[in-house]
Amino acid sequence: MSTDAMKNTSEDQIIDTFTQNEPLFRALIENTSDVIILCNIEGHIMYANSSIERLLGYAPDEICTLHSCELVHPDDRSSTREQFVALLEQPAESVTIQYRMRHKNGFWCWVEGTWKNLLADPAIQALVINIHDIADRKQAEEHQRLLNTISQMLVSSLDHDMALREIVSLLVPSLADYCRIAIIDDQQQISAIVANHIEPEKIALVRELYEQYKDLISSTFGLPTILKSGKPELISNVTSEIIAPVEQDNPTVGTIVRALGLQSYMGVPLLVRGKVIGAITFSSVQPHRYYTQDDLVFVQEIARRVALTLDHIRLYGNLQKELTERKRTEEALRLREEEHYRLGAIVESSNDAIVGKTLQGIITSWNQAAERLFGYPAQEAIGQHITLIIPTHLYSEEEEIIHKLRQGIHIKHFETVRRRKDGTYVEVSLSISPIKDSSGKIIGASKIARDITEQKELERRKDEFISMASHELKTPVTSIKGFTQLLLRRFQQRDDREALHFLSRMDAQLNKLVKLINDLLDISRMQTGQLEYRQEPFELDVLAQEVIENMRGMTQTHSLILENSEPVCVFGDRDRIGQILINLLTNAIKYSPHADKVLVQVGADGKNAVVRVQDFGIGIAPAYQKKIFERFYQVGEPEVKTYPGLGIGLYISKQIVERHHGRIEVQSRKGEGATFSVILPLLHEEK
Ligand code: ADP
Repeated sequence: MSTDAMKNTSEDQIIDTFTQNEPLFRALIENTSDVIILCNIEGHIMYANSSIERLLGYAPDEICTLHSCELVHPDDRSSTREQFVALLEQPAESVTIQYRMRHKNGFWCWVEGTWKNLLADPAIQALVINIHDIADRKQAEEHQRLLNTISQMLVSSLDHDMALREIVSLLVPSLADYCRIAIIDDQQQISAIVANHIEPEKIALVRELYEQYKDLISSTFGLPTILKSGKPELISNVTSEIIAPVEQDNPTVGTIVRALGLQSYMGVPLLVRGKVIGAITFSSVQPHRYYTQDDLVFVQEIARRVALTLDHIRLYGNLQKELTERKRTEEALRLREEEHYRLGAIVESSNDAIVGKTLQGIITSWNQAAERLFGYPAQEAIGQHITLIIPTHLYSEEEEIIHKLRQGIHIKHFETVRRRKDGTYVEVSLSISPIKDSSGKIIGASKIARDITEQKELERRKDEFISMASHELKTPVTSIKGFTQLLLRRFQQRDDREALHFLSRMDAQLNKLVKLINDLLDISRMQTGQLEYRQEPFELDVLAQEVIENMRGMTQTHSLILENSEPVCVFGDRDRIGQILINLLTNAIKYSPHADKVLVQVGADGKNAVVRVQDFGIGIAPAYQKKIFERFYQVGEPEVKTYPGLGIGLYISKQIVERHHGRIEVQSRKGEGATFSVILPLLHEEK
């Protein structure tokens, strides 16, 4: 047999076999689960097996009226077309590609198609397309992609609220048409809630739905239930029977659910170490998207990662807070240390001795000036008792200081004496302030001691000078006074009125001079403790009357009125007390130039005798009312005119009264006159 004959025989045999087997092939094609489509060179569908209906919802006849291009997703069209054109050039070749095809219901299905160019095959003359459903594979890929994206995003997220917002924006539309995440705090209260919807204008509705059902006891699923139970929820098909109980309680819930078109629902808790920290809900409104158990498993994995990240963010936040707190404490410490050094430097460089001690009197700090003043170096003084520098006869002073400090009583600045290392004494002025701990408890005291030896020496020299000068002045003035008296008598006899007039004026001025000299001498004697006081009982009211009588002759401007006078008897130096009354009346007249009277009262007040001298003059502001009793002090306000005087009358008066165990007080307001009171123990009380 020729080769041609042989070839014809074998082809014939094949055709025979094919013809015999055609029903078999047809049955095979029709029953295969894969979809088989035949297209012509233009892409028109010429044949499709019955599996097409299961995949795309079209009957084979229906689909044959369509162009294959119409069934391909617009995004996949250009790539599929390119493959198609390329394949036309390659007879008998095949290509496998993945793309989306439209279901008759409108949604898109992922498929894998193997296209074979059999256009040149005379028996087929078509492109044979074998398609199978890869939705599951695609979903698995999509899930993996989503997990990766979420993981990446979570890893880089440090801001809690931002992370939540980003997560909801990823979950919609990949896994839900709308979703919600709620986070709860340690008190089980919702601390954050975020929602998203494929149509942003419906986000408000999603939130509203939650507000409507969150407190309903009848709601058997949803965020509050998951937060309470910590269990996942799945309702594949949300029917009206499921909504009914909640709707009965609150009809708005039903209205909103219908408006949103809720179809399928699932929700998962966010768990950290077994504790619920929040929950995520997923809702679908698309007819083909019904959540399955597989979906629930997948979103549980997402929830696990989200919970972990939120936990990390929380831990990170706590760490940040701790770090900031630590930084702040360190900064405060640094500032305290700086302040400590600065204060230390000030204390060290101070010219005054600054000494710190505990309430038990133990010396705790000792600056350089203290070293210089007391002669002890710091290392010798610190740790010792403060009596180290206190003269034995003044120990009681220290006890009183400590007592006052413990009681929180303010210690007034005072002058005293301290002992140096070499045993000599030093006059110091002391300021003592309490040292408190951070809770405000007094734990010690700081003493500032200023050496006043020089100042005291100056004062002594000044006093000596005043004493000497007044002694020196006293003799000539006494003799002038004597001769004036002599002359006065002579001219009286001659009745020389003009000479008498001038001489009386001279005598009055001499009286003033004598008083001044006597006052200065008194001060010196008081300083040195040489002033003698007579001790005798006398009637204070009678004395007051006498003084007033005498003073009346000396003033033409004021009437001195003894308003009240009770007989009161006191004990002491009558002349010295009289000197006080003269001082007070002189001042009352001097400091009330525009008034015309001075009132005096004498009486008893409890155990005391009281003399009050009241004027209606310039008055004394409260700030000066203590100071006017100090030596040489005069109120020197710029707007007040100056009055003659040395500022010693009240000082002397106070010294005298105190030597009589009494006191002198003033009540006054600026511009409203003044009332001075001399208070002395009544005689029968003294006995
Ligand atoms: P002086 O010689 O200055 O009057 P005093 O010791 O008597 O000295 O008084 C001290 C200061 O007290 C006076 O300078 C004056 O400023 C004030 N003073 C005393 N008495 C009165 C008074 N009656 N009214 C107003 N100020 C007075």
